[in-house]
Amino acid sequence: MGTLTTDFSRVSQSDADTAFELPESGNEPRVAVHTLGCKLNYSEGDTISRQFINRGYRLVEFDNEAEVYVINTCSVTDHADRKCKNLVKQARRCSPHARVVVTGCFAQLQPGAVAQIPGVDLVVGGADKFRILQKLNMKDFRGSTVDIHHGETRTLTTFEPSWSQGNRTRSFLKVQDGCDYSCTFCTIPGARGASRSGDPEDLLRQARDLVASGVREIVLTGVNTGDYGWKGGDLNRGPVRPLGNFGDLMERLADESGVERLRISSIEPNLLTDRIIQLMASHPRIMPHVHMPLQSGCDLLLARMKRRYRSAAYANRVQAVRSAMPHACIGLDVIVGFPGETDRIFTETHDFINELDVSYLHVFTYSERPGTEAAEMKGRVPNGRRSDRNRLLTHLGQRKRVDFAQTHLGSVRPVLFEQERKGGLMQGYTDNYLRVAVPYDPLWVNRIMPIELSSVESDGSILCEAVPVDRFEAVFTPTHRIEYLSDQKLF
Ligand code: SF4
Repeated sequence: MGTLTTDFSRVSQSDADTAFELPESGNEPRVAVHTLGCKLNYSEGDTISRQFINRGYRLVEFDNEAEVYVINTCSVTDHADRKCKNLVKQARRCSPHARVVVTGCFAQLQPGAVAQIPGVDLVVGGADKFRILQKLNMKDFRGSTVDIHHGETRTLTTFEPSWSQGNRTRSFLKVQDGCDYSCTFCTIPGARGASRSGDPEDLLRQARDLVASGVREIVLTGVNTGDYGWKGGDLNRGPVRPLGNFGDLMERLADESGVERLRISSIEPNLLTDRIIQLMASHPRIMPHVHMPLQSGCDLLLARMKRRYRSAAYANRVQAVRSAMPHACIGLDVIVGFPGETDRIFTETHDFINELDVSYLHVFTYSERPGTEAAEMKGRVPNGRRSDRNRLLTHLGQRKRVDFAQTHLGSVRPVLFEQERKGGLMQGYTDNYLRVAVPYDPLWVNRIMPIELSSVESDGSILCEAVPVDRFEAVFTPTHRIEYLSDQKLF
């Protein structure tokens, strides 16, 4: 085990500009980056990869040999420490002499624990996650010390731009970071700091660059996306958001970036305004898909979680989306086993979701996170019961997914196809987030095609057929029609 040195200072501009010395092992050093957790973290993992590529590195898969391994951790992931340990072990097995860096939310929250993992060279907290190359450059690798760079996130005022581009079809664009809420189960505010956002001009430029590189769908991501508009450092907040609100941003990106599809990754129910719903319903480039965390259907538990809505308000938002867009996909997150969740309260949640007209669920089993209010609460639910409840809600979610898919059988919807080929099939998403599969055709990769939804599989995915040109008038914008009519061999 190495000794620990700690650098709590933030990097200076001159430090950020220092050129990183490439390792001596070859002309083209290799870097492997593995990201855990949410879409926001993935967009940041891709940005870290690009930083290395811009400095002459070749990006390789995580199970390949490399000179540098970066593990971009998550604090929400169950057993973050175990996952991190396994990845460090895997990296060391592939390349015993590589440099292993751990960054991200888990590294920010528990830098000491990460530094204790055998095989780690460098721990870089969230505040410095885009300065890994500089930190590597500063490190003296002659000894066996583990360097920890752990800036203070609470005073973070900068917004670090990020987007993913691994799959050229769809990109996750970070528009917001941090969170001012204080949900009692959540470690994210501690790991990422206060709510802050990207400047709309910068985001527009980034979106245009993504479109120019071939991206056809942009998914707007953030920690609390709907809270867009606060600048870093404006902690005495007045009634007006200096960067505008999320609806303004969506409209601007949809109107001016040239992107064909714009989607929101997730939005808190109390921030889903009527205006955003109307934009979704009326703008041809904004997709009819809403993912709104619910977490519990019981008001008592929502209060214990310090969520900023109650079940009736949630149901009201679902109803508003459904009335404006009967075909919209509506997804929710729910937590089972939160302290105080009795059998009766769980049944209340189950029945509440059963009654809601939603299309899919993401079910999370509660686990105690050190440093959160909920971890100290009474009413701990035994682990076995947590798993049983997870199974019941997963089953309900499966039924909802299949029911939603079935209501679309026989209809024609636009599908954006991805590159990957699996068992002779290619996959893609409809505008309303139905996952579909058709026989692989290389001409369809990264194209939006009119597809008839023909049969639903037991997992809720749909097998489809292409439809003749005269049937897609109803689902395509004039721009699409011109493109496809000039390329009729596709049909
Ligand atoms: S809204 Fe609540 S759960 Fe979501 S990031 Fe903020 S504190 Fe965490």
